[in-house]
Amino acid sequence: MLKRGDTFNIGEICLESGVYRLKDRDCKGNSGCKSEDQREIPLVKGKKFPPCRNCKGRVIWEFVRKA
Ligand SMILES: [Zn+2]
Repeated sequence: MLKRGDTFNIGEICLESGVYRLKDRDCKGNSGCKSEDQREIPLVKGKKFPPCRNCKGRVIWEFVRKA
């Protein structure tokens, strides 16, 4: 069972359906990427964690709550 604050890299398989927040990213400085900060997404168990929506760069996702 996931705890709030558990983190995941892009491409990892989601182990528990829930809401995840974009915690950190490698793509710095681009304003389009900056709008991704703190974005929350629903993700279903079995799906892969997605990259930055703007540049497809590497980001870190943080578990927030179960769906
Ligand atoms: Zn980006």
